[in-house]
Amino acid sequence: MTNYYQKEIETASREEILRIQNEKLRKQVKHVYENVPYYRNLMEEKGLTPDDIQSVDDIRKLPFLSKADLRDAYPYGLLAVPLNDCVRIQSTSGTTGKRVVAFYTQDDVDLWEECCARAIVAAGGTEEDVVQVAYGYGLFTGGAGLHGGSHKVGCLTLPMSSGNTERQIQFMMDLNSTIICCTPSYAAFIGESLAERGYKPEDNKLKAGIFGAEPWTEEMRQNIQKSLGIKAYDIYGLTETSGPGVAFECEEQTGMHINEDHFYAEIIDPDTGEVLPEGSKGELVFTALDKEAFPLLRYRTRDICVLSREKCSCGRTHVKMSKPMGRSDDMLIIRGVNVFPSQIETVLLNEGYTPNYQIEIGRKNNTDTLDIYVEVDPSRISDKIADIQDMEAGLASAMRTMLGIGPKIHLVPPKTIARSEGKAVRVIDNRKLHD
Ligand code: ADP
Ligand code: ZN
Repeated sequence: MTNYYQKEIETASREEILRIQNEKLRKQVKHVYENVPYYRNLMEEKGLTPDDIQSVDDIRKLPFLSKADLRDAYPYGLLAVPLNDCVRIQSTSGTTGKRVVAFYTQDDVDLWEECCARAIVAAGGTEEDVVQVAYGYGLFTGGAGLHGGSHKVGCLTLPMSSGNTERQIQFMMDLNSTIICCTPSYAAFIGESLAERGYKPEDNKLKAGIFGAEPWTEEMRQNIQKSLGIKAYDIYGLTETSGPGVAFECEEQTGMHINEDHFYAEIIDPDTGEVLPEGSKGELVFTALDKEAFPLLRYRTRDICVLSREKCSCGRTHVKMSKPMGRSDDMLIIRGVNVFPSQIETVLLNEGYTPNYQIEIGRKNNTDTLDIYVEVDPSRISDKIADIQDMEAGLASAMRTMLGIGPKIHLVPPKTIARSEGKAVRVIDNRKLHD
């Protein structure tokens, strides 16, 4: 039987969700127009007043906001309530440049934690569970979000933060953690560390993991599920919209339900800004429908994915987003070909390699170079150089089939590629240094 944290809203009919969205949107646009001069100016440039926005069908009239706007308006320019009414500040990880900050009222924190609570319950969490939160605590939203959600569900919460893997394992074993929350790359590392210490997947009490904050492939999911002996659930979010929990996976594991009563999602063509029909792949855009302190309208996430309204067996009615295949600015253009790091991860894991890899791009004689460093277990190779060369050639050929361009593969010994405790750094683009 499926459990829900807020059954009524999570399984509400489409009409009911639309009714809620329309009502909240009208109120939210007025709130922003009256309290955020930065956005009012953008609306005025388009000749818009709040009266022009009566329903979600009108949302496409509104101007977009982007990360550049957030940096422009840093730190207080998009704040919609007096600073006195705020109780929290969080910040992005700064993966793609200068960090931006977001503000929360107590109601905003509650709403965010409720979203995370929905995710934990969807992953099978109840008050019987021990939730090990191994996302970073601090300015990063991962730790705070899942921590708050775990409290709301009534789970016994282990606020580990990321890192200190030895202690993670000790507490996981001694205190019988049943659910672990961290980045997928850190989950893979914990799985690897458990095996090294002689633990089998069935030796721990974990049943589920809630992993997000960075792109990860289906192949990576299989790898983690096997090494930890759990079911691995995806969770998505960004600081600008509160943090993790904007969307989460249910037992079907076929995409993440977006909490549509709080966030209105659109898919646009990243080049033209045109709204694309349902089922198209494009850039995800969010409008926060009831956030008070930092209510972004039509925020461009730069994450590329597909939305689906196919009926879900879990009974939830909220639209599902596919795994983001990477951000539009994660996409590498190598010798004119579009390459996503996730494609490289898929090939590696399919070919039986570990998820420990690094991608290095450079330029030689005016041509882009692509080098992929991959760890290989010594048991897979003999001492013969020819063997290593054969394996490298095999992998390069599999990559060429997937990517359309051929990389140079370097098989390296175990433990030579740095492990990640938070968001993994997979790509080193040396071209940028010379541009
Ligand atoms: P930063 O943008 O500096 O990394 P955040 O910590 O707010 O700041 O990260 C949000 C971003 O992380 C999202 O826009 C998305 O690109 C990525 N992300 C979050 N969850 C997932 C997920 N489940 N799958 C893929 N990418 C994700
Ligand atoms: Zn579902």
